[in-house]
Parts: sequence; C-alpha cells; structure tokens
Amino acid sequence: MEERYSRQIPIMGKEGIEKLKNSKVFVGRCGGVGGTVVNYLIRAGVGNLICAHGGKIVPEYLNRMQLAYETDVGKSCIDAFRDKTDKINSQAKIHYIDNHITDIDNIEELLSDVDLVVDAHPLFEERYKLNDLALKLDKPMVSGAMYGDEGYVFTVLPHKTACLRCLYPKKPDFWTNIKVFPALGMGPGIIGCSMAREAIELLLKGTSQLSGKTLHFDLADMDFSVLNMPRKECNH
Ligand SMILES: [Zn+2]
Repeated sequence: MEERYSRQIPIMGKEGIEKLKNSKVFVGRCGGVGGTVVNYLIRAGVGNLICAHGGKIVPEYLNRMQLAYETDVGKSCIDAFRDKTDKINSQAKIHYIDNHITDIDNIEELLSDVDLVVDAHPLFEERYKLNDLALKLDKPMVSGAMYGDEGYVFTVLPHKTACLRCLYPKKPDFWTNIKVFPALGMGPGIIGCSMAREAIELLLKGTSQLSGKTLHFDLADMDFSVLNMPRKECNH
C-alpha cells in the first residue's frame, strides 16, 4: 500500500483504498464546488473520473476555484484543471470534456459505467438533466449548490430517496432573476468537501449520511443544519 494513503487505513482499511482506486465518478462542472470535489477525490485515491466543464478561465473565477491560478487566465478551463490534477495525483485517470453537460451529445453513454455522479452545476437546466440521467441509469448522485454564504448538499439514491425534482418540481423564479451570482470561496469549499466525503461514503458503503437529507448552512450566521428531504410524486 502506498504511503500516501496510509492515514486513510484506520478509516477505510486497505480494502477501502483498493475500492476507491477502482471507482469511477462523473463530476459535472469543476469550478468552486466541483473543483473542490475533484481535488479531494483524487487526493483520497479515487482512480477514475470524468470531468465536464466548458469555457475559459476569467479573473473572477480566482476567488473560489481551487484548480485555477492567476497564470491560467485565458486558458481553457479543462487545460488549467488538468495541469493541477496531474500535480495533485498523477495516478488518477481523468477524462476531461471541454463542454457543459447540456451540450454533450453522448452523455448517457459516458455515464453508463460510472459508480456515481456529482452535480456541481449552477444552472437548473444542467441540474435537472443530470438528476434525470442519474435516475434513468440508476446511479447515486451527490448534489451541491450555493448562493452567497448559503450552501446546500444532498444525496439521491435513485428510486429510494428524494431527488432534485422532489425539492424543486420546477425552476424557482428567483433563480431566473439573478444578474450577478454572489460568491465567496469558503462556501463552495465547504460544499465541495462535504460532497467529496459523501461520495467516498457512497463508493465504500452504497449509502451515506445525507441520503434523503439536505445539509444547509449559512456562513453569515455560522448556522449548520441537516433537514429531512421528503420524497414526492415526481415519477422517479
Ligand atoms: Zn423526485
């Protein structure tokens, strides 16, 4: 066993480390939230990832994206991210896709052999698409979202616990009216860390603390709570 994972042995045993090495995870968007998830998953030894994120690095990303540095401004996001992840864990096999989930034609095929999906998307169109694919393909999904100092994380076990459509049957009106999305780096960092921990738990045990529940926090008040997330009729 490699020395780099030795501190994880008391938590998951050698067999857990082996399990993570053979796992495959899809991460939709690798910005402030998703980039934090990717960082910690590959540090923990998750062996295979598919990461989808379009566009180029702009200066306003730098206050929250762990995988983007000043020298990356103007580069494609995936080139910037690949540069960092190669240095964090060169053994992680990451298939980068230079596009967002709503613009990937063969997304269903790409998701067919992953063990779980991570929804780190800011847009409801993207979140609904991944939610529906996760249900269709029977993949567990960890989902996280933020607004300013507020953060939300929940996990969906397909056909067993509530899904995104149970929480939001339709896109909330307030979302449409947002002109500038407020963001500090700490919120996405906490969300991403919580999601990565959920993902590890799901990969190792098939269930997790936030399955059917929502972690909500507001850093302006340092208020953290876990709420039950009722399953509703959404045909899932
Ligand atoms: Zn549902």
